[in-house]
Amino acid sequence: MGLTILLVDSQGHPVRRETLAEASLPFRHVAARGRTEIGECAAVADQPCNVLTVSIPDLQCLLRDFVTERDWEQFHTPKNLVMALAGEVGELTEIFQWLTPEQSISVLADPVQAGRVQEEIADVFAYLLRLADVLGIDLETALTDKAAKNAAKYPAKAARGTAAKYTDLPPGDKS
Ligand SMILES: [Mg+2]
Repeated sequence: MGLTILLVDSQGHPVRRETLAEASLPFRHVAARGRTEIGECAAVADQPCNVLTVSIPDLQCLLRDFVTERDWEQFHTPKNLVMALAGEVGELTEIFQWLTPEQSISVLADPVQAGRVQEEIADVFAYLLRLADVLGIDLETALTDKAAKNAAKYPAKAARGTAAKYTDLPPGDKS
């Protein structure tokens, strides 16, 4: 496959050019489903190329296809997905449970530990994406709505430098 694609970051800035065969699975999945655009990529190369970004719906589509190809939708009920998500959070927790705070900060310095952390974070993310997909919850809307609520509950001035719950913050100052 001779297609060359330009990978861009979430702001649309060029990151690097890759052949489709070199691109990671989410990008190959997006390209296979035909969602490519011809874009300008002068910062990376001097000729037009196909520009690919991977969005949250793209990742959900990737996982949905994986599940469908294996006839696993029958197992992906909301209850099962919540339990699987909790199980993966437990696996991630297990890596950290006996570390000192300092060891937890430098956990990625050990390549073996770094690989385990990355895999468990991916498992947690995958089940969260699947759960939202099955329930029909728009993750971007859910997160931005909740971030706005948190910003109102934890005004920067009142909450700066304290881990206190919002109910225990000094009243009145909403800036
Ligand atoms: Mg796991």
